[in-house]
Amino acid sequence: MNALGKTLKTWTPRMRSQPSVAALIVAAGRGTRAGGNVPKQYRSIAGRPLLDRTVEAFRLHDRVARVLVVIGEDDHSFYAAAMTPSDKLLAPVVGGAVRQASVLAGLEALADTAPDIVLVHDAARPFLSAGLIATAIESVSRGALSAVPGLAVVDTIKVVDGDGRVTGTPDRATLRAIQTPQAFAYAALREAHRRAAIAGIAALTDDAAVMEWAGHAVAVFPGEPGNVKLTHPEDFDAAERRMQAAMNDVRVGQGYDVHAFAEGDHVWLGGVRIAHDRGVIAHSDGDVVLHAATDAILGALADGDIGTHFPPSDVQWKGASSDHFLAHAARLLADRGGRLAMLDVTVVCEAPKIGPHREAIRARMAAILGVGLDRIAIKATTSEKMGFTGRREGLAALALATIRLPGDGA
Ligand code: MG
Repeated sequence: MNALGKTLKTWTPRMRSQPSVAALIVAAGRGTRAGGNVPKQYRSIAGRPLLDRTVEAFRLHDRVARVLVVIGEDDHSFYAAAMTPSDKLLAPVVGGAVRQASVLAGLEALADTAPDIVLVHDAARPFLSAGLIATAIESVSRGALSAVPGLAVVDTIKVVDGDGRVTGTPDRATLRAIQTPQAFAYAALREAHRRAAIAGIAALTDDAAVMEWAGHAVAVFPGEPGNVKLTHPEDFDAAERRMQAAMNDVRVGQGYDVHAFAEGDHVWLGGVRIAHDRGVIAHSDGDVVLHAATDAILGALADGDIGTHFPPSDVQWKGASSDHFLAHAARLLADRGGRLAMLDVTVVCEAPKIGPHREAIRARMAAILGVGLDRIAIKATTSEKMGFTGRREGLAALALATIRLPGDGA
C-alpha cells in the first residue's frame, strides 16, 4: 500500500446535483483474432460499424456529457467513415502501443474539461444497456473511486503451467469475470495511469488493475451476461443475428403542425432561423417542422403528443427553442432501446422557399436526433394558392417517423 492509496480512499464529487460524466472508448487495438481486412471495431454488424454501435449507447445516454474515442494511428479514415456525428462526440485521439498507453492518451485529452467521472469501455462490447451505464455512474457517484461490472463465473477455472498441466483450482465463488464500462473518479484514474507509466508498468489489461496497482480499492457491481466482448469471427456472426433479431419491432408515427403568420422578420424551421417578411404566432419558437417531427416520434412510441410532454400552460416553454422538444422525443426513443430509422417531413407554404435551407435543416435535425443525414428527408410544396397556406395565412408541416424497437414485432 502506498501513500496515495492510504489517503485517497474516497472522493467527494464537486457540489452540484449530478457529477459530470465522460465516456472513453478504447478502439486502438488491431483486433487480429476476429479476422477480416479492417480492424474489428470498424466491421459492420447489421449494417452499422461495431464502434458506432458501441459509442451510440453512451452518446444517447442522458447522464453522459462527452464521448471520446481512442483510435489507432492509421485509423482516421475508418473512424471518419464509421461514426454518426454527434455534439457529444469529441475529436478522436490516437492511442499507444498497448491498451494502458491508449487509455492514458484518452485521459490526458480529457484534462482540459476534466469530468468528475470517467467511464472506460471496450469498443468491442456493443450490447451494454443504458441501465448498466447508469449503475456504473451511480457506483462511483456514491464515493467509491473505482467500480467495475463483474459476473459470477459459471465454469470451473483452472490454473495451468506452460505445458498445459493444471496447477490449481481456485474457489469459483471468489471469482468474477470483469467487463466494461469501468467507472472511476477521473482525477484518481489519471493519476494512477500517470504513475504506472512513469514506473514502467505497461501490461495491465484493464483500468481496475491500474487502480489496484496504485493501491486503491475497486468495487464490483453486477455486470450483464449479454454484454459480451466480440473477439472471434463466430462472435461477429452471433452479434449479427442478435442485432437483427433485436430490432425488428418496426413502427411508424405521424405528426402534423400549423402556425399562423404574424408580424415578424423570421421563422424557425427544422431548427434553422430563416429570414422572412413574416413571423409566426406561437407559445414556443413556432417551429412547425420540429413540432411535427416530435409528434411523429411520440406517435410511433404511442406516448402522447407534444402538448402532453410540454403543456402550453407551463410558462417555462414560452419562447423555448423547439430543439429541446425533439431531443426529448429522441431520448424517450433511446430509453426504450429504439432507433430512428427514418424521418420524412413535408413543409407546406407559399413562402419562404425551403430548398435553399434544406441541407442546413437536415444537418441540424440529424445532430439533434443523433442519426445520419440519410435518415432525414425534408420536402416542400405549396398548396397552389388554395386554403390557409395558399392564402399565406400560415404554414404547416407533416412528418412520418419510422422507428425500430427491440423485439420481433409480434
Ligand atoms: Mg406547434
